[in-house]
Amino acid sequence: MTRACPVLDAFKLAYGLQDHEPLIIAGPCAVEGETMFDETAHMLAENGVRLVRAGLFKPRTSPFTFQGLGEDALPFAQAIARRYGVLLVSEVMETEQIPLLAPAVSVLQVGTRNMDNYALLKRLGRQPLPVLLKRGFMADSKEFFLAAEYLRREGNGRVILCERGIRTFESATRNTLDLNIVPIARLTTDLPIIVDPSHGTGRSDIVVPMARAAIAAGADGLLVEVHPNPAKALSDGLQSLDFERFRMMLDEVRELYALHATRSQ
Ligand code: PEP
Ligand code: MN
Repeated sequence: MTRACPVLDAFKLAYGLQDHEPLIIAGPCAVEGETMFDETAHMLAENGVRLVRAGLFKPRTSPFTFQGLGEDALPFAQAIARRYGVLLVSEVMETEQIPLLAPAVSVLQVGTRNMDNYALLKRLGRQPLPVLLKRGFMADSKEFFLAAEYLRREGNGRVILCERGIRTFESATRNTLDLNIVPIARLTTDLPIIVDPSHGTGRSDIVVPMARAAIAAGADGLLVEVHPNPAKALSDGLQSLDFERFRMMLDEVRELYALHATRSQ
């Protein structure tokens, strides 16, 4: 499991993680309001998860659905993050949003729809915050890894790759989670790779086995959607875990990751 990955080592150091601990980013699909975000951040902090998803600008397939609370939610999201000592991860959809988000968040996320938005990548390459780069749902591994080079070429080497599923003919799941890319990334890049079994499946009933599979395949961590009441979520409720299932998954994947880490030493 362990390999030379200075970028991962630096993230773990920055986020207070030990070698044998996976990089976990979790939280709701979107920040929907103060109460639900407070409850979620509190639960995550209690369970040792420091990186909290705080989606404010949401790229939705339909323009008629909830688009996120936008910058209005930043002050309370920041206050909640401070209260529990967690760090925010938020998606940036266009270059104009960078100055709004950058002072308040710790990691900027590039979503699947923007993986090949090279103007955005170049701009993110010229700022200091780490970038969580999600794989385009129509991108092959080479295109994905080269997108990361747009960031590095401009000077930002703090990049986390995230496999989140690709579009195939399969209809039982929202996307097909391509776990092949995990060992491929480990063989061909020096960047950390985490896996998002939430968007990768679209179904909360199979998120946990795919989270386990991702760690078993060698992923450096996970990105998982968790919501205090998935049935009431304004976006991606079908793929969000409730707190109980999330905690069970966390215990399991931490154990599995540690086992792999110990074995290869
Ligand atoms: C997300 O993680 O909030 C998201 C929108 O994911 P993706 O870009 O992978 O669809
Ligand atoms: Mn989502």
